[in-house]
Amino acid sequence: MYFVTAQEMYDTDQYAIERIGVEGKLLMENAGRAVANHMELFVSDQKRIAILIGKGNNGGDGFVIARTLLQKGYDVEVIVCASPSEIKGDAAYHRDVFRNSGFPFISYEEIENLEHALKEKDVVVDAMLGIGVKGAIRPPYNQLISFVNQFEGEVISVDLPSGVPADEGLEVDQAVQADRTIVIQFPKVSAFLEHTAAYYGRWEVVDIGLPSTVIQSKKTQKRVWKKQDVSTTLPTRGAFSHKGKHGKGLVIGGAVAMPGSIAMTSRAALRAGAGLLTVATVQENITALASTVVEATYTTLPSEGGYISDIGSVDFSYDAIAMGMGMGRHTGAETILQVALEQTQGILLIDADGLYALKGILSSLKGRHNPTILTPHPGEMATLLNVSIPELLHQPFAYSKAFAEEFQAYIVLKGAFTIITTPQGNQWVTVTGNPGMAKGGSGDVLAGILLAMVMQSQSLERALCNGTWIHGYTADLLVQHQHSTYDLLASDVIEGLAQTYRALSQ
Ligand code: ADP
Ligand code: ADP
Ligand code: MG
Repeated sequence: MYFVTAQEMYDTDQYAIERIGVEGKLLMENAGRAVANHMELFVSDQKRIAILIGKGNNGGDGFVIARTLLQKGYDVEVIVCASPSEIKGDAAYHRDVFRNSGFPFISYEEIENLEHALKEKDVVVDAMLGIGVKGAIRPPYNQLISFVNQFEGEVISVDLPSGVPADEGLEVDQAVQADRTIVIQFPKVSAFLEHTAAYYGRWEVVDIGLPSTVIQSKKTQKRVWKKQDVSTTLPTRGAFSHKGKHGKGLVIGGAVAMPGSIAMTSRAALRAGAGLLTVATVQENITALASTVVEATYTTLPSEGGYISDIGSVDFSYDAIAMGMGMGRHTGAETILQVALEQTQGILLIDADGLYALKGILSSLKGRHNPTILTPHPGEMATLLNVSIPELLHQPFAYSKAFAEEFQAYIVLKGAFTIITTPQGNQWVTVTGNPGMAKGGSGDVLAGILLAMVMQSQSLERALCNGTWIHGYTADLLVQHQHSTYDLLASDVIEGLAQTYRALSQ
């Protein structure tokens, strides 16, 4: 499913109007009807509804929603949040259709105590400001938004909550906190940003038949990766397959004080289907590790001060290598990474302390002939980019894209929403996962899953999307059925992969 910026949404509307020849009024009719029909699924006709209508297109949708609900027999009061004569264009047309149908509306100014009037209602439909919102919220919307936020019944926003911009990199001044948002055709970027997502409440998309032509014609696209995508793209294991067909992988990492990370990465890689796995780590840890991850083979590395001191003995001819987990932030790490960057013949995934070591030698990424995958959490990504974490999270799509394109790497920016970016600049977001994963080790598990996925797939981006989706979904299943977000452990997710694979094959 594509998701879009405000401009892409305007361009799509424009394309439908000018190139396809569907009038804007008809698009608005379709949008409003689709929203009203969707509301019918969860709002009973016994509810008293107020619809707040702004002067732009979002308000125009509101008039159609109101007319459709009234025709279905709902109890609806329409409150226009502007002087009705300020409404222009297609919205004015639907204001007139609404009025000519014999339905009344009232201007907010005519209501003596709007806050009190809202108290009489069960549901408020917010059709005040849509994707056209800009800058600080001006009267009367600032006041109306605070009334809506004090309202105790259900708040349903149309397309996006009023006051929330569609795009990244923008401040929220004041915005409606919706319980639900009914998104028209394409989710907007702000549905996937930490500082704006929560305003949406739970959201669903209604299809109004707008074409994806404009979005597809862009050089790059942004998409949400969903369960359906996983089940249709996850490679199957043929009856005659053998271990060599599922990838020969290597994990490099660990330090004397951190044996756990690579244990998790390795075990996760095996559980996620890797054919053969070797672990290269400090000699002191091998015995303990070998008894934990019995299916792997081991390469013993020399250590100095508890850290890997040399990877000269490593064979780099693996299909894929994951490196950096639990490796430590020691002075020799950069040299070790440099060797891996130069020698790795297959795919190289760099995580954790490997990313820290990468900072000084970023330009080495540009010369690689084989794919590089970086899997930073926001702290690691911000360090690599030399920006603050809030700055990064304010526009994570833009930063990821610029970084991936410049350094020709696949970037997996982890978080509640994980953003996958290809060197060409295409982006996917996965929304599975929960706060139970906010615990040391979760990223190590992901690195292992991704290592296994990239070795088994023809397409790197699909492998990364599937891996991050599966990682989060497994944690979600565990939190629904066995664990809480408090007690879930990163290693539970490894064992839980069984449930996810079973669910996907059903
Ligand atoms: P569209 O641009 O498609 O009509 P909207 O339904 O979001 O989208 O309408 C935007 C309307 O809201 C415009 O009429 C604009 O004047 C108004 N508006 C935009 N930003 C603000 C703001 N910060 N405060 C108050 N009104 C705003
Ligand atoms: P570590 O290095 O300790 O193993 P990372 O910070 O590298 O952990 O990775 C954490 C992992 O957990 C990432 O895959 C991230 O997407 C996931 N995660 C963390 N917190 C959440 C959350 N609140 N919701 C969803 N996923 C989360
Ligand atoms: Mg990590």
